Amino acid sequence: MQNKPVYMMAVAPHPHDAEWGIGGTVARWTREGKDVIFVICTNGDKGTSDPGIKPAVLAGIRKQEALESARLLGVKQVIFMDHPDLGLEDTPEFRKEILRLILTYRPEIVATRDPYFQRYVSNRDHRITGHVVLDSVWPYALSPNTYPDLIEQGLQLHKVKQVLLWTPENPNYRYDISATFELKKAALGCHKSQMEDDEYFRMITDSNKAAAQGTEFTFAEAFVRVEIPQRL
Ligand SMILES: [Zn+2]
Repeated sequence: MQNKPVYMMAVAPHPHDAEWGIGGTVARWTREGKDVIFVICTNGDKGTSDPGIKPAVLAGIRKQEALESARLLGVKQVIFMDHPDLGLEDTPEFRKEILRLILTYRPEIVATRDPYFQRYVSNRDHRITGHVVLDSVWPYALSPNTYPDLIEQGLQLHKVKQVLLWTPENPNYRYDISATFELKKAALGCHKSQMEDDEYFRMITDSNKAAAQGTEFTFAEAFVRVEIPQRL
């Protein structure tokens, strides 16, 4: 049951969210030999404006796109939770699933989407994933009595050091991705089902350039970096 601890676990609501938010940073870390894994909460089967494509077909396409993209970035493993797209709920069961992954893979850093971004018009899976990940990292991962059956199954409590929230409105941390921006774009380019027009690459280029403003970097990814208390 016990895996070797990983450096970072990125929990993405949908396929391609992690690449969009933290792909350049991931590529830097994997080049340094650090283990990164992706968890993808939903199957992405609503991610189209084309009424002609069946949800099950789209889910299959998106799984292949995610695997190809993760391989480019040097991601060690992709875990597909396969929940229905736009169907996440903040339930005890979903929180337990995320907690189980944290206690199993024991990441030093957990990254996910900032749940507070665009709070009035935001994707529900983004909001719910962000909140559930934060709850699972603290306090659940330090609390033996929240899901005692996980502990009885042999999992141990775990102290995550840091959470990085991507796509924040008010970042407190910027990471230089000048050297890996092209690779990030190539990874995003694997998600062909999500590219309806040229906007896709223009948006990410503008966003990562804007994140670098005021720094010496050409491209950056911006985060809210949350230091996690190491005790209850
Ligand atoms: Zn998404």
